[in-house]
Amino acid sequence: MNELDSEKIAGNLQHSGLEPAGNAGSADVVILNTCSVREKAVQKVYARLGTLKKMKSAKQDLIIGVVGCMAQLEGKQVFTKAPFVNLVAGPQKGHAIPGLIERAQTNGGRAIDLRMDDDPEPLENAYVLRESPRRAGVTISEGCNCRCSFCVVPFTRGKQRDRESANIVHEVEELVAQGFLEIMLLGQTVNAYHDPSSDRLTFAGLLRRLASIKGLRRIRFTSPHPNYFNDDVIDAIDSCPQICNQIHLPVQSGSTKVLRAMRRGYSREGYLATVARIRRARRPIALSTDIIVGFPGESDADFRDTLRLIDEVQYDCVFSFKYSPRPNTTALKLCDDLTDEEKGDRLKILQENQKLIQFNRNAAYLGRIVEVLVDGKAKNKFLLAGRMTDNRIVNFDGAEDLMGQLAMIEITGFGANSLSGTWIQ
Ligand code: SAH
Repeated sequence: MNELDSEKIAGNLQHSGLEPAGNAGSADVVILNTCSVREKAVQKVYARLGTLKKMKSAKQDLIIGVVGCMAQLEGKQVFTKAPFVNLVAGPQKGHAIPGLIERAQTNGGRAIDLRMDDDPEPLENAYVLRESPRRAGVTISEGCNCRCSFCVVPFTRGKQRDRESANIVHEVEELVAQGFLEIMLLGQTVNAYHDPSSDRLTFAGLLRRLASIKGLRRIRFTSPHPNYFNDDVIDAIDSCPQICNQIHLPVQSGSTKVLRAMRRGYSREGYLATVARIRRARRPIALSTDIIVGFPGESDADFRDTLRLIDEVQYDCVFSFKYSPRPNTTALKLCDDLTDEEKGDRLKILQENQKLIQFNRNAAYLGRIVEVLVDGKAKNKFLLAGRMTDNRIVNFDGAEDLMGQLAMIEITGFGANSLSGTWIQ
């Protein structure tokens, strides 16, 4: 979602007449698009601003902007903490950035535009400068109506608003006409999508409608919330090969007690029942998740419940984080009783356990022939890399002109995070 937001900012800047610079050092305008989900992300922004300050002392008219979720939270404080910053803007402000640059240039060097709940930003965005010529993110909703006690997103991105399905379909048709093969539908709670138009498409209905677009090879989506998950999505994956057989279903904790304190709205048993339904699909569906360790009050027994859950579910991938207290959230009132070291130890144990699970799951692919969308150069000794429809990374040797193609690969090697193989055709 943040990558797409950056592409929207870049698209609007390009439309206003600017060109992408090769690197930050040669740029006239540097915009930091920020996240605030964890405190570390906020600290990173101020560290980057330290470097930009030096650049600005060598180049007085350099425009520096801080936009996105962290900017929304910090507001004017950004100017106090980093007085050399020229503009501050909240998320969903891509279209407004060129105007803000102009305002900053004529207005004593500063402009600010924060997102307001009663004056929402337009959902449609005409200009997007896309990084990949093959894979495109597509917004289907903005904001979030959940009130998870740890999460800052509703305070930065506001209430959920959905795009009309006809506009989404139109954007995807245009992307396919431009040669894009894969789209990623994006929303904070993507499966809570409700078409505001008279077409009244559900999320699964939207998936099926998009799958009927000729030439579109792959459809992904992130992130669905377990509470809104229904079997229609599984049926759509079963009947439309274009919808990738991969679901990212954030669980956060394996302990019902902790889930209640997190206000997730489901129990361990409820989540596992959803997983069981996904496992009954005719097409095997890869599962990934997000987990927070060290939430206030998480006992050793609660943490062991989480370890048991990842062992039971056998995820293909897990993103895990140490709990980080965030402003405005209700969990702030709870006693954040674990030390950073204790949280770190739990994170390490969880990640080691999951690594072993992934290693074993990937081993099962040895000898299989799989289809890969070739997407770039490999990060290791192999030449190329691509992804299977279940999102596994496959590294292999092949000619450069395979880039952007679907290739068949025989799997000959594996690690915890990727597979490798030989190009067959
Ligand atoms: N709406 C998305 C969440 C986006 S944030 C969803 O529900 O899937 C991505 C992940 O960051 C969350 O799933 C959670 O695991 C993690 N996260 C959010 N707030 C956090 C916090 N305060 N501390 C640590 N991790 C957090």
